[in-house]
Amino acid sequence: MSALFRLDTEVVLKGMLHVAGLGRPKPLVDRCVAVDEHGVPYLPASSVRGRVRAHLERLLRARGLPVCAPPRPERMCPHARLEGAEDGYCLACRLFGSPWRDAAVVCEDFRPRGGPGTGGPEPHTWAGLTVLRTGVGIGRKLGTVREERLFFTETLPRVIAGEGLRFAGTMEVRAEPAELGWLVAAMRLVTHLGAQKGRGLGRVELRVTGVARCDGRDWVSEDPERFCGEVVGLALAGSAAR
Ligand SMILES: [Zn+2]
Repeated sequence: MSALFRLDTEVVLKGMLHVAGLGRPKPLVDRCVAVDEHGVPYLPASSVRGRVRAHLERLLRARGLPVCAPPRPERMCPHARLEGAEDGYCLACRLFGSPWRDAAVVCEDFRPRGGPGTGGPEPHTWAGLTVLRTGVGIGRKLGTVREERLFFTETLPRVIAGEGLRFAGTMEVRAEPAELGWLVAAMRLVTHLGAQKGRGLGRVELRVTGVARCDGRDWVSEDPERFCGEVVGLALAGSAAR
């Protein structure tokens, strides 16, 4: 039976990161990182959801389970009419939604750990903490440097003031434990976020740092490590039996 779960999730930077968004325009910078109204960088929920969904689709495909192929509507649930898909939708669509179905996963934006007053950087200092990376545009046809194509990308460093940079956010999921297991398994496969993976940016790790289950009225905490191990086990055991 499905229940409501809350996963406290952390994005741990393993390298410099550039997640584009409505940044604060800066002179000479071509690509800004996403910042909130206080100038503090954040990771939009959509960037994390998108990566997790992509890994979930891959994982389901590898296990021979039904999964549709966005973005063309005729190849997406329910139009794809996948064999074995529960009420016409694959697990990726049931968890992350589609134009024709609400998502079971509600994800908030990820904010840096250690905000003002908790030892983290104060909002006004963030502008000086980002790192500018230069790049040159390479013409696809000739493979040569194109003139006037030097550009600057704003990135977040992996470590700030001796502390590894981490972003925290919560995901609320209404699902059965085995379905949640697939979600957690897909989260474990995420190794990159944001743009310019080819230029060595965006290495990350996703960690579940807290789990709570709603028993109808109250939230009951679970040990995250044990819980994640159990639900992933349920997911994989179910698919092996097919
Ligand atoms: Zn689907």
